Amino acid sequence: MLALVAHAAKDLRIEERPVAAPGEGEISVRIALGGVCGSDLHYYNHGGFGTVRIKEPMILGHEIAGVVEAVGKGCERIKVGDRVAVNPSVPCNRCRYCLEGRQNQCLDMRFYGSAMRFPHVQGAFRERLVCWEAQAHLAPEYVSLEEAAMAEPLAVALHAVRRAGSLTGKRVLVSGSGPIGALSAIAARRAGAAEIVVTDIADGALAFAGRIGVDRTINVARDPAAMDSYKADKGYFDVLFEASGAEAALRVGLEVVRPGGVIVQLGLGTGETTLPINLVTAKELELRGTFRFHEEFALALEFMGRGLIDVKPLISATVPFADARDAFELACDRSRSMKVQLAF
Ligand code: ZN
Repeated sequence: MLALVAHAAKDLRIEERPVAAPGEGEISVRIALGGVCGSDLHYYNHGGFGTVRIKEPMILGHEIAGVVEAVGKGCERIKVGDRVAVNPSVPCNRCRYCLEGRQNQCLDMRFYGSAMRFPHVQGAFRERLVCWEAQAHLAPEYVSLEEAAMAEPLAVALHAVRRAGSLTGKRVLVSGSGPIGALSAIAARRAGAAEIVVTDIADGALAFAGRIGVDRTINVARDPAAMDSYKADKGYFDVLFEASGAEAALRVGLEVVRPGGVIVQLGLGTGETTLPINLVTAKELELRGTFRFHEEFALALEFMGRGLIDVKPLISATVPFADARDAFELACDRSRSMKVQLAF
């Protein structure tokens, strides 16, 4: 079978890999679609992010859905022919954080297509994937495999919304209109947000946000003064979802979030940031991190299955796997792309 392997920055190769048979408790999935994520693009463009670097060839990819082709001994829930989304998160379920129900903080996490540990955890942009039965979640009826492959980023957004606390009637700012920011806006609306403003520095990205029913989009590169009115009286927004990872966005956020407000930091930036931290003190702001997800993966599929969340407007292109390099270049072009998916 073929797999998409990153060797270094801008060095992406389609390579042959052996096909494995599923062992006990495992299934084999014929991958149909894989969404290109911001972290895949970081590996592609820079060979990593923050202090994480590719040190050996690594198959990319962790937003996947497909059809079950074989099941190993002991599998009862999943059957051959099932359409599934595969959860790329494999926590140990034994460490102290797993036992607390915080599997996203697992001390021995294996997350597909991640160079955080060495040897790296190989990813899922491949024609066949053997995984644990427990990782597979049935795609609900009427949910396409394209949508099912969005379960992972949607789960990230649902976890971020959970970290924010109640959003009912709240004014929400989302900085960064990439897939995670846009999905956070959708999830925030579903959670009862009354007003949602989305900012970015690219008109193309904001155009997608405009299509998902947010109240206002602002290009802060072209029109930074547009944020000034939100700074009056110590701030306007109750909650900020900071999905850009840009220092400037968090800086503005500290000014436009009202006293007692919550800032949920989703974006991963360069790793070090200088901030007017006294604003956190004086305005009694709450700065909260959010990282990946756990039970929200199943919730994402359930919400899509019940028609409560529609991710289709965010899928901007589906590109044949053989043209993976084109797909990655297209995904980097924020004037044209939101979520680019590879079709296997
Ligand atoms: Zn663990």
